[in-house]
Amino acid sequence: MSNAQSPTIRSEGSRSKSVPPRESNNTLAYSRTQAPPTVRCAWCDHQFDRTDSYLTGRVRCAHCGVATTSPWPSDEQLSAAYADWYRPQSGRFSGLGDKVLRRTRSALAHRLHRVLPPGPVLDVGAGDGTLVEAFVRRGREAVGLEPYASGPHIRNAEVEEVDGTWSAVIFWHSLEHLRQPARALSHAAALLSPGGTLVVAVPNATSLQARAFGDRWLALDLPRHLVHFDPPALLSKIEALGLRVERVSYLRGGQVVFGWVHGLVGKLPGHPDLYDAIRRSEARQATYGPVLRLYALSAAVVALPFALAASAVEVASRAGGTIYVEARREPGPAGDSREVAGGQVSPGNDAG
Ligand SMILES: [Zn+2]
Repeated sequence: MSNAQSPTIRSEGSRSKSVPPRESNNTLAYSRTQAPPTVRCAWCDHQFDRTDSYLTGRVRCAHCGVATTSPWPSDEQLSAAYADWYRPQSGRFSGLGDKVLRRTRSALAHRLHRVLPPGPVLDVGAGDGTLVEAFVRRGREAVGLEPYASGPHIRNAEVEEVDGTWSAVIFWHSLEHLRQPARALSHAAALLSPGGTLVVAVPNATSLQARAFGDRWLALDLPRHLVHFDPPALLSKIEALGLRVERVSYLRGGQVVFGWVHGLVGKLPGHPDLYDAIRRSEARQATYGPVLRLYALSAAVVALPFALAASAVEVASRAGGTIYVEARREPGPAGDSREVAGGQVSPGNDAG
């Protein structure tokens, strides 16, 4: 699968380092980047033409339903988007935020640990390693891949560089960050031991909240999110890889209620960004004064009951803000005789 790289030829009058007008919403700010539109779907490789939908900062593929960020960001743009403020050492969120994050990762590890076959777990896009550590605490070997972090169980590598056999490969809100997500998913499926499980959680770009908040929807998150998933496209790809989808949830992927609260607060005059307001001061994109912060947080309290009701409706109608999938590799009749090529990351001896 080729990269969805847009051509590097600059059209007349465009500037490679254009400064967009000041806009607190990163998606809208990015969409004003002067560069040619993305030419290929990053999910199915379809070449875009007049049949596709050209939206703000993204193109929705008529062939597969997945949208690709457009213009396609350069490495420099992505580095800037992942600069230190995104994930500071001290944690991303103030107060309870980081604790809640740790608690939910721990619950996920606990459940998966009980249902997975023996063997190590690979967490692709491991962030600060919270999920990996939760597995390790339960006595299971786990490795996290993350270019923007370090730690005893974290490696700076792409999933395609990994070999060996794994009881689970997890993409927890990371698949949408990859330049070649379909290739990554195919490779991940091939790494699974018989009975091993692929776990994917991504934002649902066709959710009710995505439609309600449009270009200001929290989970568009341009340019960090490169693909914007449509659940049928994700599920059909997973099935095409020979895996059996065993669990689909429109709630378990998290961020559903927060997506609504964030969107409702963002509808207010001045479009306050709640996500920025709850981050620690060193992890904020914009500079938030105490008054603006109080405005956003008070609005969030008022919006919460409405957000809970809206979340219940969208989850019940299977159009929740995130989609979570667990899919298992059937124990094959011919056994597992895959050749293991030399790579940079391998599980330990207890694999399989
Ligand atoms: Zn496509």
